[in-house]
Amino acid sequence: MKIIYSKKFEERYHTNPVENPDRARLPAQELEGREFVEPMPARLEDVSKVHSPEHIEMVRKKGMLEPALLAAGGACLAAELAIAGEPAFALIRPPGHHASSNHAWGMCYFNNMAVAIKKIEDRMEEDQIEGRAGKVLIIDIDLHFGDGTVSIFRWDENVKIVNVGSIDMGFDYLKLNRNGYLDQVEKALELHNFDLVAISAGFDTYMEDWGGLLAVEDYREIGRIVRVGAEKKCAGRRFAVLEGGYHPDLRLCVKSFVEGFE
Ligand SMILES: [Zn+2]
Repeated sequence: MKIIYSKKFEERYHTNPVENPDRARLPAQELEGREFVEPMPARLEDVSKVHSPEHIEMVRKKGMLEPALLAAGGACLAAELAIAGEPAFALIRPPGHHASSNHAWGMCYFNNMAVAIKKIEDRMEEDQIEGRAGKVLIIDIDLHFGDGTVSIFRWDENVKIVNVGSIDMGFDYLKLNRNGYLDQVEKALELHNFDLVAISAGFDTYMEDWGGLLAVEDYREIGRIVRVGAEKKCAGRRFAVLEGGYHPDLRLCVKSFVEGFE
């Protein structure tokens, strides 16, 4: 199990003040003693498979090209390790799941997850993992619907996305309890076939954060459910990338998830 991290994720840049350097710094402290790997920035060529030239230019004009490329590079490294059989958690910022091809909001710039999946998709097909074309299951556990990721992969039949807590239009989040949430994660892994499982790991569903639902130990259970599901169906190939999560306890939630996931 590798933790993808760079000191550069602790830099301050112009964004919503809740998306601050402590979101990376404190979880990294909490994970000390584990194996950290430093990512390279994503190549523009790889980002261009997901985002339009106009969008990339907009990110550049906002002065966010460098941090956004490094975050995407962190997700790419996590995905590459995962298909090589090594689970990974990318402790990166800025987050990405609200970034679609030509638009981004919610403190996102590039869709880190999508850049990573597009980068390895071709290789998974070449390698013909277990004799099949590469199928990816993305489970998004952030409080917010990962609209950017859904929009990017809407025509890609090899990528299945499950947004936990917002499975259908009529779903009432307020009626969801902790066990119901964990059941949804378990069902996602049971119902689908995949060669790789990728987690958009937002922690804002935490009980002291905006979502007000999950306890610290629930993240350990989510990590465990995903690990067991991956071991059963895809030789354990799995990785996670940080999305949201804004309470100072983020560090505990991340640690708890990693302990279940590794
Ligand atoms: Zn969120």
